[in-house]
Amino acid sequence: MPPILGCIADDFTGATDLASMLVRNGMRTVQVIGVPAALAPIPDADAIIVALKSRTAPVRQAVCESLAALAWLKAAGCQQFFFKYCSTFDSTAEGNIGPVADALVETLGCGFALACPAFPVNGRSVYMGHLFVGSVLLNESGMEKHPLTPMTDANLIRVLGRQSTGTVGLVPYTTVDQGAVAIRRAMIGLKEQGRRYAIVDATSDTHLRAIGEAAEGHALITGGSGIAIGLPENYRRQGKLAIQAAPGALPDIPGHCAVLAGSCSRATLFQIGRARETIPTLQLDALATQDAAALAQQALAWADGKLGAVPVLIAASAAPEQVEALQAKLGRDAAGLLIETAFATIAEGLIARGVRQLVVAGGETSGAVVTKLGVQSLRIGAEIDPGVPWTLAEGSGPTLKLALKSGNFGAPDFFLKAFEP
Ligand code: ADP
Repeated sequence: MPPILGCIADDFTGATDLASMLVRNGMRTVQVIGVPAALAPIPDADAIIVALKSRTAPVRQAVCESLAALAWLKAAGCQQFFFKYCSTFDSTAEGNIGPVADALVETLGCGFALACPAFPVNGRSVYMGHLFVGSVLLNESGMEKHPLTPMTDANLIRVLGRQSTGTVGLVPYTTVDQGAVAIRRAMIGLKEQGRRYAIVDATSDTHLRAIGEAAEGHALITGGSGIAIGLPENYRRQGKLAIQAAPGALPDIPGHCAVLAGSCSRATLFQIGRARETIPTLQLDALATQDAAALAQQALAWADGKLGAVPVLIAASAAPEQVEALQAKLGRDAAGLLIETAFATIAEGLIARGVRQLVVAGGETSGAVVTKLGVQSLRIGAEIDPGVPWTLAEGSGPTLKLALKSGNFGAPDFFLKAFEP
C-alpha cells in the first residue's frame, strides 16, 4: 500500500513533532532526512515526512527543496500533502512560508490551501486571524526578538499576505465553532472569491479536528503539527487507513545503551543531574582539551568496559559561566563545533562498540550525530515524553534506536525513563 499523507517540514525537530502527532493518531510514520534519491525505496508507512532545513534558507532554495520533496512524495504515491511550519509561524517578510506555499499550490493546481498554525495544547491559538502564544499576541511573546525570524505582527492575514503573491481570507472562530460543514462552506466561499489562502481560527483540539474533517479532499494543507490531528480520521472513514493497534511499534534492537548530552539548556542540565546519581556519567572538559579527536578518544576509553544494558551518559553540557569561558577562548561557533565534532566521533565509536540504543540531547548536537552516522530515515515510535519519540534509524550504518531530544524537552528523569522496559 502506498503512503497516504506526504509532508514537507521546514525543519528537523518540527518534522519529528508532526510525526509524533500522526503516530499518536494512528498513522505509521517515517521521517526521511532531506529529499531521498529518486530511486530510494519508499518506506512502508501511512505517512512520510521529508525533513528539510528550509525555514531560514534563502527563498529560492527553500522553494526548490520543497518542490523536490513534493515531487518525490507524489512519485511515492501520496494522495494528500501537508506543508508543516512552526506553530509560531516563524518567517520573515520575504518568506519562507508564503513563497513555498505558493509554489506548492501552483504545482498541485489546487488554487487554495488553508493555513492554521494553531496548537492549543502548547499554547498556540488563532483568534480572528491573530496568533496568540499563551495569553499574549505573537509579537509580544518574545518571538518579536527572535534572532532569525522576528515576528513583529500577530495578524497572520497580513503576514501571509505580505509573503504571498495571492490574497488571504479568514475563516473566523464563529464559523469554526459550528463544525466541519460550516468550515468547508466558508473555505469554498473564499476560494470562489479568489482567495488563495484561508487563515483558519482554532483555540481547541475540537476546532482542529473539525478543520481536519473540513479539509478532506484538499490537495494541500498548511500549518503546524496541531492541525494534523484531524486528518487520520478522514483516511479511516475513507477506508484508506486501517485501525492500527500499535502504529508506533518498533522492533527490539538488542545492544548497549548510551546518552550523549550536548545541550546546555536548563531541562537537560536537570536531567543530567538526576541521571548522574544512578548511571555512569562522564563530563567532557573542553576547556582542558580543546581538540575534538582527543576529547572523543578520552570518552571512548572511559566507556570501554562500562557499556551494557545500563546506559552510560557522556555530557558536555555546562552552566552558563563555563560555556562563556570556552566561548571566550575559542569564539562561540568554534566552541559549538568543537563539541559537536567530538560527539559525532563519540557516537560513531559507541556504535562500533555495540551501542544500539542512543539518546542525544540538543538540536544541533543531534544534527551532528545523525549526519555522522549516515542516518537517512527515522521510523517514529512511542513517545518517551511529549515531542520526543524513540525512532528506528536506518541509513548507511547498522539499524539503531535513536531518541533525539531538543534541549528543553523532557521530564527530569528523561535519561532514565528512556531505557525503562
Ligand atoms: P539545544 O537543543 O539545547 O539548543 P544544541 O545542541 O542545539 O542544544 O546546542 C547546544 C550547543 O552548545 C551545541 O553547539 C554544543 O556543542 C554547545 N555546547 C555544549 N556544551 C558546551 C560547553 N560546555 N561550552 C560551550 N558550548 C557547549
